[in-house]
Amino acid sequence: MSVPTISLNDGRTIPQLGFGVFRVEPAETERVVSDALEVGYRHIDTAAAYGNEEGVGRAIAASGIPRSELFVTTKLWNSDQGTQSAFDAIDLSLERLGLESVDLYLIHWPRPDLDRYVESWHALERIRAAGKAASIGVSNFTPVHLERIIAESSTVPAVDQVELHPGFAQVPLRDYAREHGIAIESWGPLGQGKYDLFGMAPIAAAASAHSVTPAQVVIRWHLQHGLIVFPKSTSRERMAENFDVFGFELSADELAAIDGLDRGKRVGADPDTATF
Ligand code: NDP
Repeated sequence: MSVPTISLNDGRTIPQLGFGVFRVEPAETERVVSDALEVGYRHIDTAAAYGNEEGVGRAIAASGIPRSELFVTTKLWNSDQGTQSAFDAIDLSLERLGLESVDLYLIHWPRPDLDRYVESWHALERIRAAGKAASIGVSNFTPVHLERIIAESSTVPAVDQVELHPGFAQVPLRDYAREHGIAIESWGPLGQGKYDLFGMAPIAAAASAHSVTPAQVVIRWHLQHGLIVFPKSTSRERMAENFDVFGFELSADELAAIDGLDRGKRVGADPDTATF
């Protein structure tokens, strides 16, 4: 079984299914990521702000997996937005990860109140030119923020990583991204366990029809919509479950029924007002 890839607007590709490490304790990260690599994940999503890049790096080094077979994403934290601060931040991330470059570097949040995301985007363009990130993108950007960096730079972000799950399906943003060749990555793909997604009738019904778990149904929903997805789990059993999603397919009716669960409500912060 091989994980499908999505083509990015810079000519590179990204494994569509990966593994996220938000809220994985630093002390546990090496074990968790080692388990994920053993299960078969080759795409890891971390961030400077998660405080666990070192553990990710140790697991990668210990795995013996060739660097070219791995896809590693990290992110520029809000307090490091700017030019020199972004250059320093990527160097520190690479040092903690023990890597010469990442596959994808993202601006973590737009923080429009700081008004430094355009400047930071120019810094990411230079970070890519220096070979420290193969692809660059953004996270938690709305079409308004995207519009601005597209107008004020010569690079369209390769991805926008945003909160996205059946209860907050982000259809207008997905339409905008499709028009502009930006791939969408779903964070909190399982709703972070913050509402009873797995108990909702269309998800429970599809799980029963395909003899799979509700989590597997939700991951399929992301994949079949062309979204990039990296569920997090500290349990090796659930990591394996979340990776075992290529043996069944949701029907058009099942997809539509799950689409109907969109209630337009976030479980996380609003990018326009977040100030952390
Ligand atoms: P998820 O939607 O992936 O949910 C994770 C939760 O679901 C955990 O509590 C986990 O528990 C549980 N879980 C995982 N698999 C299963 C399963 N098969 N059955 C039941 N429960 C399950 O939330 P995340 O916030 O972790 O999102 C995924 C990734 O997205 C992050 O790890 C991070 O990489 C990225 N992210 C990015 C953000 C951004 O601002 N750019 C913000 C938030 C996340 P357990 O560990 O016990 O299995």
